[in-house]
Amino acid sequence: MHYVSTRGQAPHLAFDDVLLTGLARDGGLYVPESWPRLDADAQRSLRGLPYPALAARVMAPFVGDTVAEDDLKRILEDAYAGFHHAAVAPLRQAGPETWVMELFHGPTLAFKDYAMQVVGRLFDHVLERRNSRLTIVGATSGDTGSSAIEALRDRDNIDVVILHPKGRVSPIQQRQMTTVQAANVHNVAVDGTFDDCQALVKALFGDDAFRDEVNLSAVNSINWARILVQIVYYFHAGLAVGAPDRGLAFSVPTGNFGNVFAGWAARAMGLPVEQLVVGSNRNDILTRFFETGHMTTGPVQPTLSPSMDIQVSSNFERLLFELYARDGATVDRLLTTLREHGGFAVDDARWRAALALFDGDRRDDAATRDAITRHWRATGELLDPHSAIGLDVGTARRRDPATPLVSLATAHPAKFPDAVEQATGRHPALPDRLADLMTLEETYAELPVDAGVLKSFVRERIGP
Ligand SMILES: *Cc1c(COP(=O)(O)O)cnc(C)c1O
Repeated sequence: MHYVSTRGQAPHLAFDDVLLTGLARDGGLYVPESWPRLDADAQRSLRGLPYPALAARVMAPFVGDTVAEDDLKRILEDAYAGFHHAAVAPLRQAGPETWVMELFHGPTLAFKDYAMQVVGRLFDHVLERRNSRLTIVGATSGDTGSSAIEALRDRDNIDVVILHPKGRVSPIQQRQMTTVQAANVHNVAVDGTFDDCQALVKALFGDDAFRDEVNLSAVNSINWARILVQIVYYFHAGLAVGAPDRGLAFSVPTGNFGNVFAGWAARAMGLPVEQLVVGSNRNDILTRFFETGHMTTGPVQPTLSPSMDIQVSSNFERLLFELYARDGATVDRLLTTLREHGGFAVDDARWRAALALFDGDRRDDAATRDAITRHWRATGELLDPHSAIGLDVGTARRRDPATPLVSLATAHPAKFPDAVEQATGRHPALPDRLADLMTLEETYAELPVDAGVLKSFVRERIGP
């Protein structure tokens, strides 16, 4: 299996190179050159497999021989052994033909652990074999940073530098990063906004000499390997509610479009997904796209669901590439228009093609709190604000009540205690293993918004 760029101008790469590269050299994102299919019999043969074994079967055709089968199995078993639910991604029934898939049983309580724990181990495995080292630099507005740090801490061949906007992430999110004491973890509080952090990371990636000097790489959600690992839980849920013998719908609280694109990919592999509902908060660029066929950015507004406070959904590019029959030149033109003019429109036929599968809708903070309250009254369960948006939008927009709907719960309610408490009067407790989080010692550097200063910091920290 080889991978091609969505802009059509970058070298085709094998899986292990795509893993380490992240963004393609032409600015595009890597996608498989074709989608491997699992026919109905193959899907039935996956029923009842333990989660890591299912993951190995779903991922094998994408990984090919770049990672030996036994190594892949060992990596997956090891990654999910650290999760805190025996089912790894349990389904909880929320109503007739309606399920919530809990994707918050990993070490940092957000769905990003499901991929990151595997990707961190894959990085180490490939680097070990190549006898090389990497420096991962990333910016976070919350969940990605802690998930990456938790997955990469104490790995032999990787240094990880995570920037967060000083004082602008939640106390729990901050402490999940800054209380990790590991020689290869370097937290930076940037005196600026999340956009400043992202701009700094871009500046480092834009400096080819520096990039090569420190072997710079990224683990943000544009990395194909993260999407790949996320495909697995769509099969896991689908098989549990009757696929391939029944169709199904998913609802996904969405920011960068990575998670829901994994659902699209599961469908491309043959899972009978009939509908994908994309949930947004007031940062509703995706809802507006589905309403109009126009993608136009605006200012980011802070909400109760900060992990979706995003105005450009990077992974949407992967869907565009498919909508345009894999025409990289057109994708390049549209994304250039977006960058230069703040928007683009797709033609009517492509818009309709997207609407055949996707629906999108938004919820503001008041509606989000209301959704948490109603779910709690109906089931006694607490949902975090992101998950509540997903379930509420999914329930409202499902096309057929007889088709099973699986709504993805992307964070544990205790990650967003204030919103949950406002909505229910209940304070969601952190799991026992994190109970001392608020008293552990924090370690981080404070840096200004200055790429030169950041480069010196990275050089100094990673050593010779
Ligand atoms: C990252 C995140 C999202 C958004 O996922 P994307 O893949 O960026 O669409 C939603 N909810 C939570 C809790 C997250 O951490």
